[in-house]
Amino acid sequence: MDELVIKDLHVNVEGKEILKGLSLTVKKGQVAALMGPNGSGKSTLAYTIMGHPGYEIAKGEIWFKGKNLAQVEADERSRMGVFLSFQYPQVVSGVSLSNFLRTAVNARRPEDDPVPVVDFAKQLREKMEMLKIDPAFAGRYVNEGFSGGEKKRTEILQMAVLEPEMAILDETDSGLDIDALRTVAEGVNRLKSEKMGILLITHYQRILNYVTPDVVHVIVKGRIVKTGGKELALKLEEKGYDWILKELEQAAKPLARPKKR
Ligand code: ADP
Ligand code: MG
Repeated sequence: MDELVIKDLHVNVEGKEILKGLSLTVKKGQVAALMGPNGSGKSTLAYTIMGHPGYEIAKGEIWFKGKNLAQVEADERSRMGVFLSFQYPQVVSGVSLSNFLRTAVNARRPEDDPVPVVDFAKQLREKMEMLKIDPAFAGRYVNEGFSGGEKKRTEILQMAVLEPEMAILDETDSGLDIDALRTVAEGVNRLKSEKMGILLITHYQRILNYVTPDVVHVIVKGRIVKTGGKELALKLEEKGYDWILKELEQAAKPLARPKKR
Protein backbone atom coordinates (compact mmCIF):
# COMPACT_ATOMS: atom_id res chain seq x y z
CA MET A 1 0.00 0.00 0.00
CA ASP A 2 2.87 2.39 0.80
CA GLU A 3 4.69 1.45 -2.34
CA LEU A 4 4.83 3.56 -5.43
CA VAL A 5 3.12 1.49 -8.09
CA ILE A 6 3.16 2.64 -11.69
CA LYS A 7 0.98 0.73 -14.09
CA ASP A 8 1.03 0.90 -17.88
CA LEU A 9 1.91 4.58 -17.92
CA HIS A 10 1.60 6.44 -21.21
CA VAL A 11 2.73 10.05 -21.16
CA ASN A 12 2.65 12.68 -23.91
CA VAL A 13 4.92 15.69 -24.02
CA GLU A 14 3.95 18.40 -26.51
CA GLY A 15 1.72 15.91 -28.28
CA LYS A 16 4.39 13.24 -28.60
CA GLU A 17 4.19 9.94 -26.75
CA ILE A 18 7.33 9.60 -24.62
CA LEU A 19 6.39 6.98 -22.05
CA LYS A 20 4.79 4.01 -23.78
CA GLY A 21 3.35 1.66 -21.22
CA LEU A 22 5.82 1.86 -18.36
CA SER A 23 5.23 -0.24 -15.26
CA LEU A 24 7.38 -0.05 -12.14
CA THR A 25 7.15 -0.50 -8.38
CA VAL A 26 9.29 1.19 -5.75
CA LYS A 27 9.00 -0.33 -2.29
CA LYS A 28 9.62 1.47 0.96
CA GLY A 29 13.03 0.77 2.41
CA GLN A 30 14.33 0.03 -1.07
CA VAL A 31 16.53 1.72 -3.60
CA ALA A 32 15.30 1.08 -7.11
CA ALA A 33 17.72 2.23 -9.78
CA LEU A 34 16.36 3.38 -13.13
CA MET A 35 18.98 3.39 -15.85
CA GLY A 36 18.70 4.17 -19.52
CA PRO A 37 20.18 5.95 -22.51
CA ASN A 38 19.71 9.70 -22.93
CA GLY A 39 16.26 10.54 -24.20
CA SER A 40 14.70 7.27 -23.04
CA GLY A 41 12.17 9.06 -20.80
CA LYS A 42 13.75 9.01 -17.33
CA SER A 43 13.19 12.68 -16.55
CA THR A 44 9.76 12.48 -18.16
CA LEU A 45 8.84 9.80 -15.64
CA ALA A 46 10.18 11.90 -12.75
CA TYR A 47 8.26 15.01 -13.83
CA THR A 48 5.11 13.00 -14.40
CA ILE A 49 5.22 11.49 -10.91
CA MET A 50 5.58 14.99 -9.46
CA GLY A 51 2.70 16.35 -11.54
CA HIS A 52 4.48 18.77 -13.85
CA PRO A 53 1.74 20.34 -16.00
CA GLY A 54 3.54 19.80 -19.32
CA TYR A 55 3.38 16.02 -18.96
CA GLU A 56 0.04 14.60 -19.96
CA ILE A 57 -0.94 11.17 -18.70
CA ALA A 58 -2.77 9.62 -21.63
CA LYS A 59 -3.22 6.27 -19.92
CA GLY A 60 -2.16 4.38 -16.82
CA GLU A 61 -1.98 4.85 -13.09
CA ILE A 62 0.49 6.01 -10.44
CA TRP A 63 -0.51 4.65 -7.04
CA PHE A 64 0.91 5.90 -3.76
CA LYS A 65 -0.66 5.66 -0.31
CA GLY A 66 -3.95 4.49 -1.73
CA LYS A 67 -4.30 7.36 -4.18
CA ASN A 68 -3.83 7.54 -7.91
CA LEU A 69 -1.42 10.47 -8.14
CA ALA A 70 -2.72 11.24 -11.61
CA GLN A 71 -5.73 12.70 -9.81
CA VAL A 72 -3.80 14.56 -7.10
CA GLU A 73 -2.53 18.16 -7.44
CA ALA A 74 1.24 18.63 -7.57
CA ASP A 75 1.52 20.44 -4.21
CA GLU A 76 -0.57 17.74 -2.56
CA ARG A 77 1.78 15.08 -3.97
CA SER A 78 4.61 16.88 -2.24
CA ARG A 79 2.65 17.00 1.03
CA MET A 80 2.05 13.26 0.65
CA GLY A 81 5.80 12.84 0.95
CA VAL A 82 6.87 12.55 -2.66
CA PHE A 83 10.09 14.39 -3.40
CA LEU A 84 11.93 15.09 -6.62
CA SER A 85 15.52 16.13 -6.88
CA PHE A 86 15.84 17.84 -10.25
CA GLN A 87 18.39 16.96 -12.89
CA TYR A 88 18.73 20.69 -13.54
CA PRO A 89 18.08 22.57 -10.26
CA GLN A 90 16.64 26.06 -10.71
CA VAL A 91 17.96 29.32 -9.33
CA VAL A 92 15.56 31.09 -6.95
CA SER A 93 16.81 34.66 -6.80
CA GLY A 94 16.06 36.77 -3.75
CA VAL A 95 15.23 33.79 -1.51
CA SER A 96 17.85 32.51 0.89
CA LEU A 97 18.41 28.78 1.04
CA SER A 98 17.44 28.68 4.69
CA ASN A 99 14.16 30.58 4.11
CA PHE A 100 13.40 28.44 1.10
CA LEU A 101 13.82 25.22 3.08
CA ARG A 102 11.92 26.51 6.10
CA THR A 103 9.02 27.53 3.86
CA ALA A 104 9.06 24.07 2.29
CA VAL A 105 8.97 22.40 5.71
CA ASN A 106 6.15 24.64 6.92
CA ALA A 107 4.13 23.98 3.78
CA ARG A 108 3.84 20.42 5.01
CA ARG A 109 2.79 21.34 8.55
CA PRO A 110 -0.51 22.65 9.84
CA GLU A 111 -0.74 26.43 9.29
CA ASP A 112 -0.87 27.19 13.03
CA ASP A 113 2.12 25.02 13.85
CA PRO A 114 5.19 26.24 11.97
CA VAL A 115 8.56 24.77 12.87
CA PRO A 116 10.21 26.92 15.60
CA VAL A 117 12.92 29.04 13.96
CA VAL A 118 15.62 28.02 16.45
CA ASP A 119 14.88 24.30 16.06
CA PHE A 120 14.92 24.62 12.31
CA ALA A 121 18.25 26.47 12.31
CA LYS A 122 19.82 23.75 14.47
CA GLN A 123 18.48 20.97 12.24
CA LEU A 124 19.66 22.75 9.14
CA ARG A 125 23.16 23.22 10.56
CA GLU A 126 23.43 19.52 11.38
CA LYS A 127 22.25 18.44 7.96
CA MET A 128 24.52 20.87 6.17
CA GLU A 129 27.41 19.50 8.16
CA MET A 130 26.49 15.95 7.19
CA LEU A 131 26.52 16.94 3.51
CA LYS A 132 29.69 19.00 3.90
CA ILE A 133 27.99 22.20 2.79
CA ASP A 134 29.56 25.45 3.99
CA PRO A 135 27.16 26.98 6.61
CA ALA A 136 27.43 30.32 4.78
CA PHE A 137 25.30 28.80 2.00
CA ALA A 138 22.24 29.02 4.27
CA GLY A 139 22.20 32.78 3.69
CA ARG A 140 22.82 32.65 -0.05
CA TYR A 141 20.10 32.77 -2.66
CA VAL A 142 18.99 29.30 -3.75
CA ASN A 143 21.41 27.93 -6.36
CA GLU A 144 22.55 31.42 -7.44
CA GLY A 145 26.18 31.11 -8.46
CA PHE A 146 26.35 27.55 -7.06
CA SER A 147 28.60 25.13 -8.91
CA GLY A 148 27.05 21.97 -10.36
CA GLY A 149 28.21 19.95 -7.36
CA GLU A 150 26.92 22.53 -4.88
CA LYS A 151 23.51 22.49 -6.55
CA LYS A 152 23.30 18.70 -6.28
CA ARG A 153 24.32 18.77 -2.62
CA THR A 154 21.67 21.39 -2.05
CA GLU A 155 19.09 19.06 -3.59
CA ILE A 156 20.08 16.33 -1.17
CA LEU A 157 19.98 18.86 1.68
CA GLN A 158 16.41 19.60 0.67
CA MET A 159 15.68 15.88 0.81
CA ALA A 160 17.33 15.66 4.25
CA VAL A 161 15.21 18.50 5.57
CA LEU A 162 11.91 17.37 4.07
CA GLU A 163 12.32 13.69 5.00
CA PRO A 164 10.18 12.39 2.13
CA GLU A 165 8.65 8.93 1.96
CA MET A 166 9.30 8.52 -1.73
CA ALA A 167 12.35 10.25 -3.12
CA ILE A 168 13.05 10.47 -6.83
CA LEU A 169 16.61 11.48 -7.55
CA ASP A 170 17.04 12.44 -11.20
CA GLU A 171 20.69 12.12 -12.19
CA THR A 172 21.88 13.55 -8.91
CA ASP A 173 25.25 12.05 -9.79
CA SER A 174 25.73 13.80 -13.12
CA GLY A 175 28.44 16.44 -13.19
CA LEU A 176 29.83 15.53 -9.78
CA ASP A 177 33.52 14.98 -9.21
CA ILE A 178 34.43 11.92 -7.20
CA ASP A 179 34.50 13.68 -3.80
CA ALA A 180 31.15 15.36 -4.35
CA LEU A 181 29.75 12.05 -5.59
CA ARG A 182 30.89 10.30 -2.41
CA THR A 183 29.43 13.02 -0.23
CA VAL A 184 26.10 12.89 -2.03
CA ALA A 185 26.04 9.09 -1.92
CA GLU A 186 26.88 9.05 1.80
CA GLY A 187 24.10 11.55 2.34
CA VAL A 188 21.63 9.32 0.51
CA ASN A 189 22.80 6.28 2.51
CA ARG A 190 22.38 8.16 5.80
CA LEU A 191 18.89 9.33 4.85
CA LYS A 192 17.79 5.95 3.56
CA SER A 193 15.42 4.26 5.96
CA GLU A 194 12.72 1.66 6.23
CA LYS A 195 10.22 4.46 5.80
CA MET A 196 11.61 5.78 2.55
CA GLY A 197 11.61 4.45 -0.97
CA ILE A 198 14.16 5.82 -3.40
CA LEU A 199 13.97 5.85 -7.18
CA LEU A 200 17.52 6.56 -8.20
CA ILE A 201 17.64 7.67 -11.82
CA THR A 202 21.04 7.50 -13.41
CA HIS A 203 22.73 7.19 -16.75
CA TYR A 204 25.96 5.79 -15.31
CA GLN A 205 26.43 3.00 -12.80
CA ARG A 206 29.12 5.00 -10.93
CA ILE A 207 26.86 6.16 -8.09
CA LEU A 208 25.67 2.56 -7.61
CA ASN A 209 29.16 1.71 -6.34
CA TYR A 210 28.27 3.81 -3.31
CA VAL A 211 24.49 3.44 -3.06
CA THR A 212 23.62 -0.23 -3.47
CA PRO A 213 20.39 -0.71 -5.40
CA ASP A 214 17.95 -3.45 -4.40
CA VAL A 215 16.72 -3.63 -7.96
CA VAL A 216 17.82 -2.20 -11.31
CA HIS A 217 15.39 -1.34 -14.09
CA VAL A 218 16.44 -0.41 -17.59
CA ILE A 219 14.30 1.99 -19.61
CA VAL A 220 14.54 2.22 -23.38
CA LYS A 221 12.17 4.30 -25.52
CA GLY A 222 9.66 4.85 -22.75
CA ARG A 223 9.37 1.29 -21.50
CA ILE A 224 11.12 -0.90 -18.94
CA VAL A 225 12.90 -3.50 -21.03
CA LYS A 226 14.95 -5.27 -18.37
CA THR A 227 14.97 -5.72 -14.62
CA GLY A 228 17.65 -7.30 -12.51
CA GLY A 229 19.96 -6.99 -9.54
CA LYS A 230 22.98 -4.79 -9.17
CA GLU A 231 24.94 -7.02 -11.53
CA LEU A 232 22.77 -5.69 -14.35
CA ALA A 233 24.16 -2.21 -13.66
CA LEU A 234 27.70 -3.59 -13.84
CA LYS A 235 26.98 -5.22 -17.16
CA LEU A 236 25.70 -1.88 -18.49
CA GLU A 237 28.86 -0.20 -17.24
CA GLU A 238 30.97 -2.71 -19.06
CA LYS A 239 29.01 -3.08 -22.28
CA GLY A 240 26.98 0.11 -22.57
CA TYR A 241 23.36 0.04 -23.72
CA ASP A 242 23.98 -1.33 -27.20
CA TRP A 243 23.58 -4.99 -26.33
CA ILE A 244 20.14 -4.31 -24.88
CA LEU A 245 19.11 -2.46 -28.02
CA LYS A 246 20.37 -5.39 -30.12
CA GLU A 247 18.46 -7.88 -27.98
CA LEU A 248 15.33 -5.83 -28.45
CA GLU A 249 15.84 -5.71 -32.21
CA GLN A 250 16.29 -9.46 -32.31
CA ALA A 251 13.16 -10.01 -30.27
CA ALA A 252 11.17 -7.71 -32.55
CA LYS A 253 12.19 -9.53 -35.75
CA PRO A 254 9.83 -12.14 -37.07
CA LEU A 255 11.30 -15.64 -36.76
CA ALA A 256 13.95 -15.98 -39.43
CA ARG A 257 13.59 -18.81 -41.90
CA PRO A 258 16.18 -21.50 -41.51
CA LYS A 259 19.02 -20.86 -43.95
CA LYS A 260 19.51 -23.25 -46.83
CA ARG A 261 22.90 -24.88 -46.84
P1 ADP B 1 16.07 11.20 -20.26
O1 ADP B 1 15.84 11.89 -18.96
O2 ADP B 1 15.98 9.72 -20.18
O3 ADP B 1 17.34 11.63 -20.94
P2 ADP B 1 13.79 12.73 -21.13
O4 ADP B 1 12.64 12.24 -20.34
O5 ADP B 1 14.39 14.03 -20.72
O6 ADP B 1 14.89 11.60 -21.26
O7 ADP B 1 13.33 12.90 -22.65
C1 ADP B 1 12.67 11.87 -23.36
C2 ADP B 1 12.22 12.39 -24.71
O8 ADP B 1 11.21 13.37 -24.53
C3 ADP B 1 13.30 13.08 -25.51
O9 ADP B 1 13.14 12.71 -26.86
C4 ADP B 1 13.03 14.55 -25.31
O10 ADP B 1 13.46 15.30 -26.41
C5 ADP B 1 11.54 14.58 -25.15
N1 ADP B 1 11.12 15.66 -24.23
C6 ADP B 1 11.26 15.66 -22.90
N2 ADP B 1 10.79 16.79 -22.34
C7 ADP B 1 10.36 17.52 -23.38
C8 ADP B 1 9.76 18.82 -23.48
N3 ADP B 1 9.51 19.55 -22.41
N4 ADP B 1 9.42 19.25 -24.70
C9 ADP B 1 9.65 18.50 -25.80
N5 ADP B 1 10.20 17.28 -25.75
C10 ADP B 1 10.56 16.81 -24.58
MG1 MG C 1 16.97 13.17 -17.79
